[in-house]
Amino acid sequence: MGIKERYEQVLRWFRENRPLAETELNFNNPFELLVAVILSAQCTDKRVNQTTPALLRDYPTPEAMSLTSAEVIYEYIKSISYPNNKAKHLVAMSQKLVKDFGGKVPETLEELTTLPGVGRKTANVILSVAWGKAAMAVDTHVFRVSHRIGLVPKSCKTPLSTELYLTKHIPEEEIPKAHHWLILHGRYQCTARQPQCNTCGLLEFCKEGVSLSIQK
Ligand code: SF4
Repeated sequence: MGIKERYEQVLRWFRENRPLAETELNFNNPFELLVAVILSAQCTDKRVNQTTPALLRDYPTPEAMSLTSAEVIYEYIKSISYPNNKAKHLVAMSQKLVKDFGGKVPETLEELTTLPGVGRKTANVILSVAWGKAAMAVDTHVFRVSHRIGLVPKSCKTPLSTELYLTKHIPEEEIPKAHHWLILHGRYQCTARQPQCNTCGLLEFCKEGVSLSIQK
């Protein structure tokens, strides 16, 4: 199967079978999303969703969060992974938002990646989910699933090259949704250790699916 046909088939399958793909993080505005995404590194969305209500009730804006300390934030987030670093990042990120961006979450990759705790992946999630832009955040699920299906060649060995290949081949208006399609498929169907190929709707279009389903 050629690359163009594979993209067409895979995107059509997701479109028809996963019409409601969206983030599993709870948020009400771009700042809340930014806080949640920073907290979600190496941590489940479920755990983050248990943590953010109290934190954002007491520190609902960049201004409020910028005036507190990492020690105080730590107490709210200590049940998630890397709480020390994340607490420092949240306070420093809020201070920079207030100082350089008038308390508003920026809308460009260049500006977002100047914020403490915000790398390219986090910035792309904000661009895509908060601002609806054609940005593809490549996390471990997107990387694994897109390689297994054969949406990207083996030569794309890094998240960045994978991101660039995917965004070149997926229609621009569909990129924000495709990001969630690949993440959710990786979380629930095409899992790292036990991909459920035998019940996967993508099996006939998937490069590695046949061999993985035979191994089971
Ligand atoms: Fe993943 Fe298997 Fe489905 Fe391919 S067929 S996407 S490897 S679960």
